[in-house]
Amino acid sequence: MGFLGKSVIAGMSIVFLAACTPKIVQQDKSSSTKVNSEMYRFISSLMSKMTIEEKIGQLNLLTGGDAVTGTTVNSNIEQKIKNGEVGGFFSLSTPQKIRKAQELAVKEARLKIPLIFGMDVIHGYKTTFPIPLGLSCSWDMNLIQKTARIAAEEASADGLNWTFSPMVDVSRDPRWGRVSEGNGEDPFLGAEIAKAMVKGYQGDDLSKANTIMACVKHFALYGASEAGRDYNTVDMSRQRMYNEYLLPYKAAVDAGVGSVMTSFNEIDGIPATANKWLVTDLLRNDWNFKGFVVTDYTGINEMVDHGFGNLQEVSAKALQAGVDMDMVGEGFLTTLKKSYQEGKISMQEIDRACRLVLEAKYKLGLFEDPFKYCDEERARTQIYTSENLKFAREVAGKSFVLLKNNEVLPLKKQGTIALVGPLANTRENMPGTWSVSTDLSKAISVKEGLENILGSRAKILHAMGTNLLDDAEYQKRATMFGRDIPRDNRSNEVMLKEAVNLAKKSDVIVAALGESSEMSGESSSRTDIKIPQNQQKLLEELVKTGKPVVLVLFTGRPLDLTWENQHVPAILNVWFGGSQTGNAIADVLFGDVNPSGKLSMTFPQNVGQIPLYYNHKNTGRPLEGPWFQKFRSNYLDVTNEPLYPFGYGLSYTKFDFSEPRLDKDNFKAGEKVQLSVTLSNRGKFDGEEVVQLYISDMVGSVTRPVKELKAFQKVFLKSGQSKEVKFEITEDMLKFYNSELQFVSEPGEFKVFVGNSSSSVKEAKFRLN
Ligand code: BGC
Repeated sequence: MGFLGKSVIAGMSIVFLAACTPKIVQQDKSSSTKVNSEMYRFISSLMSKMTIEEKIGQLNLLTGGDAVTGTTVNSNIEQKIKNGEVGGFFSLSTPQKIRKAQELAVKEARLKIPLIFGMDVIHGYKTTFPIPLGLSCSWDMNLIQKTARIAAEEASADGLNWTFSPMVDVSRDPRWGRVSEGNGEDPFLGAEIAKAMVKGYQGDDLSKANTIMACVKHFALYGASEAGRDYNTVDMSRQRMYNEYLLPYKAAVDAGVGSVMTSFNEIDGIPATANKWLVTDLLRNDWNFKGFVVTDYTGINEMVDHGFGNLQEVSAKALQAGVDMDMVGEGFLTTLKKSYQEGKISMQEIDRACRLVLEAKYKLGLFEDPFKYCDEERARTQIYTSENLKFAREVAGKSFVLLKNNEVLPLKKQGTIALVGPLANTRENMPGTWSVSTDLSKAISVKEGLENILGSRAKILHAMGTNLLDDAEYQKRATMFGRDIPRDNRSNEVMLKEAVNLAKKSDVIVAALGESSEMSGESSSRTDIKIPQNQQKLLEELVKTGKPVVLVLFTGRPLDLTWENQHVPAILNVWFGGSQTGNAIADVLFGDVNPSGKLSMTFPQNVGQIPLYYNHKNTGRPLEGPWFQKFRSNYLDVTNEPLYPFGYGLSYTKFDFSEPRLDKDNFKAGEKVQLSVTLSNRGKFDGEEVVQLYISDMVGSVTRPVKELKAFQKVFLKSGQSKEVKFEITEDMLKFYNSELQFVSEPGEFKVFVGNSSSSVKEAKFRLN
């Protein structure tokens, strides 16, 4: 990032000269009206001095280049800042660099308006936590909130005040690479996580130097792209949208998220970035969102390729739809004035957008002190601390999902262990996709983790066994951004033989296989969602040795593991666990940590079943009884069941559930039903279980899903302990959007299911009168 280095006057303390001295925004309710009116007055006074060019300048978001997240990069940035043509900046970090950019804005631009500084802080900053899909499998909202809090502390210590997170796109398509960045298939779980993340980032006062503004994305429905191909068309009914996809975005808005990012896809034939119904009617008018809306990377320019007009036209359409800030593409900067002069947009529309961007800066306290996030001492002492890393190790352990265990795990800390596979000895692939600020070379590999925990107690024999992928070109595409896994140029036979020989000399085989971190994430869709063929071949040979095999599975999406499930005795799905991945894997493999993760997304039996999700509708011809039935809704070649259902995950201990008990089986709107269930730990290990509560509305004015997650609790029990777990069922939990899109409950029969996965449940019935 050289551009700022040359012409900036360093080391000078800046006196900020704004129209008047603003007050910090307090978020407690009693004072919020007063503060809002102070903010309004302050910004009105500032805007009265702004030219149209300066107002449009505030709507322009440029990229720095410390992190590459797209193809277009901005130029001539210094001059643009001085001209007042830049509102914010992203992918630039460190207090020194940010101070220099900020100095240009508050010293050299006419009105001295500070810049806002963003970054994709997605699952941690330097201290990296598991990929969001993994994190969501912890089902632990306090833990998730704390990851966002730590990310905010580290990012703000490094000069940033805005993150493009949380990503809350519900998705039912594991072919889509970006499922790794989201929270899986369930809107309720996704909404709980959205709230936790927003609270974690923003804290209770955005103006504090250790809180940052969140940006919920990608609004909306981005996870429903056709065929799982990134950036592809989305089309769905309002019914489905309201009941199954919108909840997490709304939860983030209700939690006070400061900004919203539009998505690349279209909705009802109109790109989200110019969709007035979406951005103004729904988000602003119905949901009462008060923050600003930013496009995704060149989202405005891309509407030209959507066939929605030339750059001037699509820029005007985006502004009129309610978009306030243009990320990277500079469509606003280069065309809005012309559109205004031609009478195609109004000054009120420009003013709205400009005010909302300035308000965000006000709320962050930037008018009061534009350098409040530029504290070099904080950057030295509060980033990548041993305390944060310790927490990252704990979090990683809680994100892993034990998919199968035929009494192989936990392993003993003794004997000889064969550690095999292309993911066994790579630090760079441990943090996972979208960890743009992490130090890849400091992540802990599986091999290092095992060595750290075993010391001299056991012997580790290591071989790669096979390359990540046979096809070297595919491997290049799958290991971008410094996530290389150096290729071994020996033949497959030679590598395989070496691995099998080591395996034969060992007591147990740990096979670290699966995807590299860049096989998921943005622009990383796959049509074949198996472990690459060459890796499966290695696994087959390892299993043939007759030694116990543990598959340590790396993946950013649900995979087709049908073969592995049949043949491999133990499968631990570790996703990508962040900075401490290797240590956390060793903790779980050797039983220091008992796995407790539960899938937030269904694993299908094969790619042809997609979309496959637990909260589906029943159809008029459901399969009743054993597969196969002619003229029922099923396949000729495979059952309807998933391989591993939503909510599933094993433990080293065994939990039992009693039948659920209800305090009444009839209730009226406004009342509550108490449900209790006894959970018992009958195994030898202490452990955590996620008690999941699903509800099914037996008859509706529109058809209802077979079940929907409505509540959950994560409970720790010592071996031998039991506990009564209680839930309250409220009328709100029974509500849904009817055909008029009214959010209603309807009297009638309901079933409630309690258990430890969406398919392993016990049920009870009640009526709403
Ligand atoms: C992604 C966003 C991201 C943005 C900025 C885009 O390509 O879709 O999720 O926040 O780039 O890096």
